[in-house]
Amino acid sequence: MRHVLVTGGAGYIGSHACKALQQAGFVPVTYDNLCTGWEDAVKFGPFEDGDLLDRGRLDEVFARYQPVAVMHFAALSQVGESMKEPGKYWLNNVGGSLNLIEATVAAGCKNFVFSSTCATYGEHDNVMLDESIEQHPINAYGSSKRAIEDMLKDFEGANGLEHVIFRYFNVAGGDPDAEVGEFHQPETHLIPLMLDAIDGKRDALTIYGTNYDTPDGTCIRDYVHVCDLVDAHVLGLKWLMDGKGSSIFNLGTGSGFSVREVITHSRSVTNRDVPVTEGERRPGDCTKLVSGSTRAEKELGWMPTRSKLDIMIADAWRWHQNGHYDK
Ligand code: UDP
Repeated sequence: MRHVLVTGGAGYIGSHACKALQQAGFVPVTYDNLCTGWEDAVKFGPFEDGDLLDRGRLDEVFARYQPVAVMHFAALSQVGESMKEPGKYWLNNVGGSLNLIEATVAAGCKNFVFSSTCATYGEHDNVMLDESIEQHPINAYGSSKRAIEDMLKDFEGANGLEHVIFRYFNVAGGDPDAEVGEFHQPETHLIPLMLDAIDGKRDALTIYGTNYDTPDGTCIRDYVHVCDLVDAHVLGLKWLMDGKGSSIFNLGTGSGFSVREVITHSRSVTNRDVPVTEGERRPGDCTKLVSGSTRAEKELGWMPTRSKLDIMIADAWRWHQNGHYDK
Protein backbone atom coordinates (compact mmCIF):
# COMPACT_ATOMS: atom_id res chain seq x y z
CA MET A 1 0.00 0.00 0.00
CA ARG A 2 1.29 3.43 -0.88
CA HIS A 3 0.71 5.66 2.11
CA VAL A 4 0.94 9.43 1.89
CA LEU A 5 1.25 11.37 5.13
CA VAL A 6 -1.18 14.28 4.92
CA THR A 7 -0.63 16.88 7.62
CA GLY A 8 -3.76 18.91 8.14
CA GLY A 9 -5.85 16.15 6.54
CA ALA A 10 -8.75 17.05 8.85
CA GLY A 11 -8.87 20.60 7.50
CA TYR A 12 -10.60 22.12 4.50
CA ILE A 13 -8.01 21.60 1.77
CA GLY A 14 -6.37 18.57 3.40
CA SER A 15 -9.65 16.62 3.59
CA HIS A 16 -10.31 17.24 -0.11
CA ALA A 17 -6.71 16.15 -0.84
CA CYS A 18 -7.32 12.90 1.05
CA LYS A 19 -10.33 12.16 -1.14
CA ALA A 20 -8.34 12.85 -4.30
CA LEU A 21 -5.43 10.71 -3.07
CA GLN A 22 -7.76 7.81 -2.31
CA GLN A 23 -9.29 8.12 -5.78
CA ALA A 24 -5.76 8.04 -7.24
CA GLY A 25 -4.95 4.76 -5.43
CA PHE A 26 -2.99 6.08 -2.44
CA VAL A 27 -3.83 5.67 1.24
CA PRO A 28 -3.89 9.12 2.87
CA VAL A 29 -2.80 9.07 6.51
CA THR A 30 -4.08 12.20 8.22
CA TYR A 31 -1.76 13.72 10.83
CA ASP A 32 -3.62 16.54 12.55
CA ASN A 33 -3.92 18.07 16.03
CA LEU A 34 -7.51 19.17 15.31
CA CYS A 35 -6.75 22.75 16.36
CA THR A 36 -8.73 23.94 13.36
CA GLY A 37 -9.69 20.63 11.72
CA TRP A 38 -12.51 18.13 12.30
CA GLU A 39 -12.21 14.42 13.00
CA ASP A 40 -15.46 14.00 11.04
CA ALA A 41 -13.62 15.22 7.95
CA VAL A 42 -11.21 12.25 8.04
CA LYS A 43 -13.07 9.82 5.81
CA PHE A 44 -10.61 8.44 3.33
CA GLY A 45 -7.83 6.82 5.36
CA PRO A 46 -6.43 6.43 8.88
CA PHE A 47 -6.30 9.27 11.40
CA GLU A 48 -3.28 9.94 13.62
CA ASP A 49 -3.86 12.62 16.21
CA GLY A 50 -0.61 14.55 16.57
CA ASP A 51 1.08 17.92 16.68
CA LEU A 52 3.81 19.02 14.32
CA LEU A 53 5.76 20.27 17.30
CA ASP A 54 5.86 16.72 18.73
CA ARG A 55 8.85 15.13 17.02
CA GLY A 56 8.50 11.82 18.87
CA ARG A 57 4.92 11.40 17.66
CA LEU A 58 5.95 12.25 14.10
CA ASP A 59 8.74 9.63 14.18
CA GLU A 60 6.26 7.04 15.45
CA VAL A 61 3.82 7.75 12.60
CA PHE A 62 6.56 7.66 9.95
CA ALA A 63 7.77 4.30 11.33
CA ARG A 64 4.25 2.90 11.34
CA TYR A 65 3.27 3.78 7.75
CA GLN A 66 6.57 4.40 5.90
CA PRO A 67 4.88 6.90 3.60
CA VAL A 68 6.10 7.33 0.03
CA ALA A 69 5.50 11.07 0.35
CA VAL A 70 4.36 13.87 2.61
CA MET A 71 1.69 16.42 1.72
CA HIS A 72 1.99 19.27 4.16
CA PHE A 73 -1.17 21.37 4.64
CA ALA A 74 -1.20 21.84 8.41
CA ALA A 75 -0.76 25.52 9.22
CA LEU A 76 -2.34 28.51 10.84
CA SER A 77 -3.65 30.57 7.96
CA GLN A 78 -5.43 33.72 9.08
CA VAL A 79 -3.80 36.84 7.75
CA GLY A 80 -5.38 39.15 10.35
CA GLU A 81 -4.45 36.92 13.29
CA SER A 82 -0.89 36.61 11.99
CA MET A 83 -0.51 40.38 12.18
CA LYS A 84 -1.61 40.42 15.81
CA GLU A 85 0.14 37.26 16.98
CA PRO A 86 3.14 36.64 14.71
CA GLY A 87 4.84 34.38 17.27
CA LYS A 88 2.07 31.79 16.86
CA TYR A 89 2.77 31.71 13.13
CA TRP A 90 6.53 31.43 13.46
CA LEU A 91 6.26 28.69 16.08
CA ASN A 92 3.48 26.57 14.54
CA ASN A 93 4.11 27.08 10.87
CA VAL A 94 7.88 27.47 10.75
CA GLY A 95 8.88 25.51 13.87
CA GLY A 96 6.33 22.78 13.12
CA SER A 97 7.49 22.48 9.51
CA LEU A 98 11.12 22.21 10.60
CA ASN A 99 10.19 19.27 12.82
CA LEU A 100 8.21 17.66 10.05
CA ILE A 101 10.95 18.12 7.47
CA GLU A 102 13.58 16.71 9.82
CA ALA A 103 11.33 13.72 10.60
CA THR A 104 10.75 13.20 6.86
CA VAL A 105 14.48 13.18 6.15
CA ALA A 106 15.22 10.92 9.14
CA ALA A 107 12.62 8.43 7.88
CA GLY A 108 14.28 8.33 4.45
CA CYS A 109 11.21 9.75 2.71
CA LYS A 110 12.27 11.90 -0.25
CA ASN A 111 9.05 13.36 -1.67
CA PHE A 112 7.44 16.43 -0.14
CA VAL A 113 4.49 18.44 -1.46
CA PHE A 114 4.05 21.78 0.27
CA SER A 115 1.05 24.04 0.49
CA SER A 116 2.33 27.59 0.15
CA THR A 117 0.52 30.78 -0.74
CA CYS A 118 0.35 33.78 -3.01
CA ALA A 119 0.58 35.80 0.22
CA THR A 120 4.35 35.20 -0.10
CA TYR A 121 4.39 37.63 -3.06
CA GLY A 122 3.06 40.71 -1.27
CA GLU A 123 2.00 43.83 -3.20
CA HIS A 124 2.89 43.94 -6.90
CA ASP A 125 0.83 46.60 -8.58
CA ASN A 126 -1.31 45.26 -11.38
CA VAL A 127 1.03 42.55 -12.57
CA MET A 128 0.02 39.01 -13.31
CA LEU A 129 1.99 37.10 -10.70
CA ASP A 130 4.11 34.25 -11.99
CA GLU A 131 6.49 31.99 -10.12
CA SER A 132 9.53 34.14 -10.90
CA ILE A 133 8.20 37.30 -9.23
CA GLU A 134 10.10 38.36 -6.13
CA GLN A 135 8.50 37.50 -2.83
CA HIS A 136 7.94 40.35 -0.38
CA PRO A 137 5.21 39.17 1.99
CA ILE A 138 3.37 41.92 3.88
CA ASN A 139 1.94 39.77 6.65
CA ALA A 140 3.36 37.24 9.09
CA TYR A 141 1.36 34.41 7.54
CA GLY A 142 3.05 35.03 4.18
CA SER A 143 6.46 35.42 5.84
CA SER A 144 6.06 32.11 7.66
CA LYS A 145 5.22 30.30 4.42
CA ARG A 146 8.14 31.87 2.59
CA ALA A 147 10.48 30.77 5.37
CA ILE A 148 9.30 27.17 4.91
CA GLU A 149 9.92 27.40 1.16
CA ASP A 150 13.50 28.50 1.94
CA MET A 151 13.85 25.65 4.41
CA LEU A 152 12.82 23.11 1.78
CA LYS A 153 15.51 24.39 -0.60
CA ASP A 154 18.15 24.01 2.10
CA PHE A 155 17.07 20.46 2.92
CA GLU A 156 17.07 19.56 -0.74
CA GLY A 157 20.69 20.71 -0.95
CA ALA A 158 21.76 18.87 2.17
CA ASN A 159 19.54 15.76 2.15
CA GLY A 160 18.09 15.38 -1.34
CA LEU A 161 14.52 16.15 -0.20
CA GLU A 162 12.66 16.61 -3.50
CA HIS A 163 9.73 18.95 -3.15
CA VAL A 164 6.92 20.56 -5.07
CA ILE A 165 5.71 23.89 -3.74
CA PHE A 166 2.21 25.09 -4.67
CA ARG A 167 1.45 28.74 -4.16
CA TYR A 168 -2.29 29.04 -3.91
CA PHE A 169 -4.53 31.88 -4.68
CA ASN A 170 -7.96 31.94 -2.99
CA VAL A 171 -9.30 28.45 -2.49
CA ALA A 172 -13.07 28.13 -2.62
CA GLY A 173 -15.90 25.71 -3.26
CA GLY A 174 -16.23 22.18 -1.97
CA ASP A 175 -16.59 18.53 -2.87
CA PRO A 176 -19.53 18.30 -5.34
CA ASP A 177 -20.75 15.22 -3.37
CA ALA A 178 -20.63 17.34 -0.17
CA GLU A 179 -18.76 14.54 1.66
CA VAL A 180 -16.33 17.20 2.90
CA GLY A 181 -16.42 20.97 2.73
CA GLU A 182 -15.21 24.26 4.15
CA PHE A 183 -15.89 24.73 7.82
CA HIS A 184 -13.67 26.97 9.92
CA GLN A 185 -14.35 28.02 13.49
CA PRO A 186 -14.12 30.99 13.60
CA GLU A 187 -14.73 31.61 9.91
CA THR A 188 -12.79 34.42 8.24
CA HIS A 189 -13.12 33.65 4.54
CA LEU A 190 -15.29 35.64 2.20
CA ILE A 191 -17.52 33.01 0.57
CA PRO A 192 -18.55 31.01 3.68
CA LEU A 193 -19.13 34.24 5.61
CA MET A 194 -21.30 35.48 2.80
CA LEU A 195 -23.32 32.25 2.77
CA ASP A 196 -23.83 32.66 6.53
CA ALA A 197 -25.16 36.17 5.91
CA ILE A 198 -27.42 34.87 3.14
CA ASP A 199 -29.14 32.32 5.36
CA GLY A 200 -29.29 34.50 8.44
CA LYS A 201 -26.51 32.86 10.50
CA ARG A 202 -24.94 36.32 10.73
CA ASP A 203 -26.46 39.75 10.33
CA ALA A 204 -24.45 40.94 7.36
CA LEU A 205 -21.25 40.52 5.44
CA THR A 206 -18.80 43.35 6.12
CA ILE A 207 -16.82 44.45 3.08
CA TYR A 208 -13.29 45.13 4.32
CA GLY A 209 -12.37 48.35 2.58
CA THR A 210 -14.07 50.09 -0.32
CA ASN A 211 -11.30 52.56 -1.21
CA TYR A 212 -8.73 50.25 -2.80
CA ASP A 213 -7.28 51.20 -6.15
CA THR A 214 -9.52 48.82 -8.13
CA PRO A 215 -12.47 49.56 -10.44
CA ASP A 216 -15.09 49.17 -7.68
CA GLY A 217 -12.82 49.98 -4.71
CA THR A 218 -12.80 46.44 -3.23
CA CYS A 219 -9.96 43.91 -3.23
CA ILE A 220 -9.51 41.54 -6.12
CA ARG A 221 -8.69 37.87 -5.65
CA ASP A 222 -8.19 34.87 -7.90
CA TYR A 223 -10.52 32.08 -6.73
CA VAL A 224 -9.59 28.43 -7.40
CA HIS A 225 -11.88 25.46 -6.77
CA VAL A 226 -10.57 23.24 -4.00
CA CYS A 227 -11.10 20.09 -6.13
CA ASP A 228 -8.98 21.53 -8.95
CA LEU A 229 -6.38 22.56 -6.41
CA VAL A 230 -6.05 19.10 -4.88
CA ASP A 231 -5.93 17.51 -8.33
CA ALA A 232 -2.78 19.56 -8.90
CA HIS A 233 -1.34 18.12 -5.68
CA VAL A 234 -1.85 14.57 -6.90
CA LEU A 235 -0.15 15.53 -10.17
CA GLY A 236 2.68 17.11 -8.14
CA LEU A 237 3.07 13.91 -6.15
CA LYS A 238 3.26 11.83 -9.33
CA TRP A 239 5.75 14.34 -10.74
CA LEU A 240 8.03 13.74 -7.74
CA MET A 241 7.57 9.98 -7.84
CA ASP A 242 8.53 10.03 -11.53
CA GLY A 243 11.82 11.67 -10.47
CA LYS A 244 11.15 14.99 -12.18
CA GLY A 245 12.66 17.00 -9.32
CA SER A 246 11.77 19.99 -7.22
CA SER A 247 9.55 22.69 -8.66
CA ILE A 248 7.25 25.57 -7.79
CA PHE A 249 3.80 26.09 -9.29
CA ASN A 250 1.26 28.86 -8.86
CA LEU A 251 -2.31 27.64 -8.78
CA GLY A 252 -4.62 30.38 -9.99
CA THR A 253 -6.98 30.92 -12.87
CA GLY A 254 -5.71 34.18 -14.39
CA SER A 255 -8.90 36.04 -13.61
CA GLY A 256 -9.72 38.01 -10.52
CA PHE A 257 -13.00 38.99 -8.91
CA SER A 258 -13.58 41.89 -6.55
CA VAL A 259 -15.44 41.41 -3.28
CA ARG A 260 -18.44 43.20 -4.79
CA GLU A 261 -18.37 40.90 -7.84
CA VAL A 262 -18.35 37.85 -5.59
CA ILE A 263 -21.39 39.25 -3.80
CA THR A 264 -23.23 39.85 -7.09
CA HIS A 265 -22.52 36.30 -8.28
CA SER A 266 -23.67 34.88 -4.95
CA ARG A 267 -26.97 36.67 -5.26
CA SER A 268 -27.59 35.12 -8.65
CA VAL A 269 -26.38 31.60 -7.74
CA THR A 270 -28.37 31.34 -4.51
CA ASN A 271 -31.25 33.51 -5.65
CA ARG A 272 -31.15 35.15 -2.24
CA ASP A 273 -30.21 38.58 -1.00
CA VAL A 274 -26.82 39.22 0.64
CA PRO A 275 -27.03 41.71 3.52
CA VAL A 276 -23.88 43.82 3.29
CA THR A 277 -22.22 46.57 5.33
CA GLU A 278 -19.12 48.51 4.41
CA GLY A 279 -16.21 48.52 6.86
CA GLU A 280 -12.57 49.46 7.30
CA ARG A 281 -9.70 47.76 5.51
CA ARG A 282 -8.43 44.57 7.16
CA PRO A 283 -4.73 44.88 8.10
CA GLY A 284 -2.46 42.76 5.89
CA ASP A 285 -4.79 42.61 2.87
CA CYS A 286 -3.19 43.16 -0.57
CA THR A 287 -5.14 45.11 -3.19
CA LYS A 288 -5.01 42.49 -5.90
CA LEU A 289 -3.68 38.93 -6.13
CA VAL A 290 -4.12 37.24 -9.49
CA SER A 291 -1.99 34.59 -11.15
CA GLY A 292 -1.82 32.65 -14.35
CA SER A 293 -1.21 28.94 -13.98
CA THR A 294 0.67 28.49 -17.23
CA ARG A 295 3.50 26.53 -15.67
CA ALA A 296 1.20 24.10 -13.85
CA GLU A 297 -0.85 23.59 -17.00
CA LYS A 298 2.14 23.13 -19.30
CA GLU A 299 4.42 21.09 -17.08
CA LEU A 300 2.08 19.20 -14.76
CA GLY A 301 -0.76 18.90 -17.24
CA TRP A 302 -3.12 20.53 -14.72
CA MET A 303 -6.56 21.22 -16.17
CA PRO A 304 -8.85 23.07 -13.78
CA THR A 305 -12.46 22.25 -14.59
CA ARG A 306 -14.53 23.65 -11.70
CA SER A 307 -12.80 26.98 -11.06
CA LYS A 308 -15.64 29.16 -12.34
CA LEU A 309 -16.97 31.55 -9.73
CA ASP A 310 -20.57 30.36 -10.11
CA ILE A 311 -19.59 26.68 -9.74
CA MET A 312 -17.47 27.45 -6.66
CA ILE A 313 -20.30 29.35 -5.01
CA ALA A 314 -22.85 26.66 -5.95
CA ASP A 315 -20.66 23.86 -4.51
CA ALA A 316 -20.01 25.88 -1.34
CA TRP A 317 -23.75 26.61 -1.04
CA ARG A 318 -24.64 22.90 -1.40
CA TRP A 319 -22.24 22.01 1.43
CA HIS A 320 -23.44 24.96 3.47
CA GLN A 321 -27.02 23.69 3.26
CA ASN A 322 -26.43 19.94 3.60
CA GLY A 323 -23.09 19.22 5.20
CA HIS A 324 -21.57 19.85 8.60
CA TYR A 325 -19.06 18.42 11.06
CA ASP A 326 -19.88 17.66 14.67
CA LYS A 327 -16.43 17.10 16.08
N1 UDP B 1 -13.31 39.95 2.86
C1 UDP B 1 -14.33 40.84 3.16
N2 UDP B 1 -15.16 40.53 4.20
C2 UDP B 1 -15.03 39.40 4.94
C3 UDP B 1 -14.00 38.48 4.62
C4 UDP B 1 -13.15 38.79 3.56
O1 UDP B 1 -14.47 41.88 2.52
O2 UDP B 1 -15.82 39.22 5.88
C5 UDP B 1 -12.42 40.26 1.73
C6 UDP B 1 -10.95 40.34 2.14
O3 UDP B 1 -10.62 41.65 2.56
C7 UDP B 1 -10.25 39.93 0.84
C8 UDP B 1 -11.23 38.97 0.19
O4 UDP B 1 -12.49 39.20 0.82
O5 UDP B 1 -10.14 41.04 0.00
C9 UDP B 1 -10.85 37.52 0.40
O6 UDP B 1 -10.59 37.33 1.79
P1 UDP B 1 -10.41 35.89 2.42
O7 UDP B 1 -10.25 36.07 3.91
O8 UDP B 1 -11.51 35.00 1.95
O9 UDP B 1 -9.06 35.34 1.77
P2 UDP B 1 -7.59 35.97 1.72
O10 UDP B 1 -7.52 36.77 0.46
O11 UDP B 1 -7.37 36.78 2.97
O12 UDP B 1 -6.72 34.76 1.67
